[in-house]
Amino acid sequence: MSHDEPKSAAGPTKLVIRNIGLLLSGALEKPILDADTIVAENGKITAIGRAKDVDTEGATTIVDANGTAVAPGLIDSHVHPVAGEWTPRQNQIGWIDSFLHGGVTTMISAGEVHMPGRPKDIVGVKAMAIFAQRAFDNLRPGGVKVHAGAPVIEHGMTEEDFKEMATAGVRWLGEVGLGSVKDGPTARKMVAWARKYGMNSTIHTGGPSIPGSGLIDADVVLEADTDIVGHINGGHTALPDGQIRCICEGCKRGLELVHNGNERAALYTLRTAREMGDLNRVILGTDAPAGSGVQPLGILRMVSMLSSLGEVPAEVAFCFATGNTARMRTLDCGIIETDRSADFVFMDKAQHSAGKNILECVQLGDLPGVGMTIIDGIVRTQRSRNTPPAAKVPEIVAH
Ligand SMILES: [Zn+2]
Repeated sequence: MSHDEPKSAAGPTKLVIRNIGLLLSGALEKPILDADTIVAENGKITAIGRAKDVDTEGATTIVDANGTAVAPGLIDSHVHPVAGEWTPRQNQIGWIDSFLHGGVTTMISAGEVHMPGRPKDIVGVKAMAIFAQRAFDNLRPGGVKVHAGAPVIEHGMTEEDFKEMATAGVRWLGEVGLGSVKDGPTARKMVAWARKYGMNSTIHTGGPSIPGSGLIDADVVLEADTDIVGHINGGHTALPDGQIRCICEGCKRGLELVHNGNERAALYTLRTAREMGDLNRVILGTDAPAGSGVQPLGILRMVSMLSSLGEVPAEVAFCFATGNTARMRTLDCGIIETDRSADFVFMDKAQHSAGKNILECVQLGDLPGVGMTIIDGIVRTQRSRNTPPAAKVPEIVAH
């Protein structure tokens, strides 16, 4: 396997990014910032502003953005990792590094459920969650932060089990419904235990994904009360529109739209959330790897689809893939502000897009070109091998 990057560089670092053409903040309240320079020290953002106003002295790395757009690194709220870069679902290797080339710098596991021989007894469930958390904490394929260790709940689990996992470092609950618990009352009890010990939770919404999985309807979703309504647009089979509306109106939890779901239902959810003034709840995932495949550009494709067909300004659609997810998932990345992780994606309009700049390019349904990714203040990739070529790309001018 390849590209097992260090979490941070040896010794202190100071990154200066200059000549930013468009700074996308990731925050819905103000999606575009009036700044052309970012400074990050030791992996955290320390200054944002105009070049003349910020301290750029003593940089260890200078990146000339060359007029491109900079956004927070994209977050995939719904992945199913198993072991490093290998996914047994489609028997591929290297999928996480491929996602990095699609601008994704952080991923959240919705359960390591594709593990061949996945244990379903409680000791086994706990052991696998702790193992996955440790393994992906130790290994960052391409530098990508994979938040894994997301057990799926099984009948018979007790409060003590959640306490034990949380104490051991497990902070996510995978999709409720992928294990034996598919009823509202049991799910609600266990999700509350998980929350009590600091674990953020999600649920499988909609019809079964593959033979052997089951239906979770609006009543169960609302009763379970997970932090995230996982793939509210189905994975792939969506609930009827009336039930989707019921979920949107019946709670204030995250509304996750996934690539491997029903696109029409995603647009319906988006419109419902907008009507309610709740766009801050919309977050994006791929639900990959899955039966539908493994999509390195899945998050960019969702941003572009929602922007173009859902009539959302591109700078707002990028918030769904960054700041909204960071808030709903309590992550320290996803927004361009001081003290946040220095995780960035540089993009420009795709060559020959009919749009005259990146925002128009996305609003017309094209994908932007990725020119560079940075994680924890370290350059991880340059011109993407997977996106359409960006018209302009940044360059490293000094080390
Ligand atoms: Zn699912």
